[in-house]
Amino acid sequence: MKLLVPVKRVVDYNVKVRVKPDGTGVETANVKMSMNPFDEIAVEEAVRLKEKGVATEIVAVSIGPAQAQEQIRTALAMGADRGILVEAEGTIEPIAVAKLLKALVEKEGPQMVILGKQAIDDDMNATGQMLAALLGWGQGTFASKVEVADGAVNVTREVDGGLETVKLTLPAIVTTDLRLNEPRYASLPNIMKARKKPIETVKPGDLGVDTAPRLKVIKVEEPPKRQAGVKVASAAELVSKLRNEAKVI
Ligand code: AMP
Repeated sequence: MKLLVPVKRVVDYNVKVRVKPDGTGVETANVKMSMNPFDEIAVEEAVRLKEKGVATEIVAVSIGPAQAQEQIRTALAMGADRGILVEAEGTIEPIAVAKLLKALVEKEGPQMVILGKQAIDDDMNATGQMLAALLGWGQGTFASKVEVADGAVNVTREVDGGLETVKLTLPAIVTTDLRLNEPRYASLPNIMKARKKPIETVKPGDLGVDTAPRLKVIKVEEPPKRQAGVKVASAAELVSKLRNEAKVI
């Protein structure tokens, strides 16, 4: 079974994100970029399925600038077999990403697409769901466990107050949650081997998809600054402040 794993190039999660002075977005110039952490979990899950003999081929896909090849190489070093870069500049919204992925699914014929539950840059949490709708496939979102058996995939989902297990007939869409697995670090020999793995480059036009934005960002703002704390002299003063100032007890 072939797996398609979309991996997004995003600002590294350790970077303190700064809003541009004109409020049109966040600074990305000279900022460390990495693979979206939920996509690392998706690649890890795909590699584990291949190691178990369930999957036969893993194709990593990124939609973004030429530099997104770096994130595809990371996926290849973790164990993906080949990559596809859909080279596109500027903001590519989830609906456009989903349409591009649909076109690739029709070309490649995977049995499962494993995406991250959300990209940590735009926090959309939309692409997997949109792709499932466009393809008419079942979706298991927020997965904390994935088991493939007899032409179906059982997905345990993290829902409010517990876990829910759904059975999806393949082909299907899965989106990863944090507790699904702990992604491996690529070893040096695997990083070297990944250099030889093929990456195909296509343009959105080759896939017949118009990526023009449908949304307009009106303003991006920093969150309000947290006020400094104060030291209290006694438990009685703490209780008084909680009761009379914070009004929480
Ligand atoms: P989002 O809906 O933007 O929060 O993204 C959810 C998931 O869709 C991500 O974790 C990726 O797996 C996938 N995705 C979104 N945008 C891209 C992109 N530009 N390239 C590759 N995968 C993407």
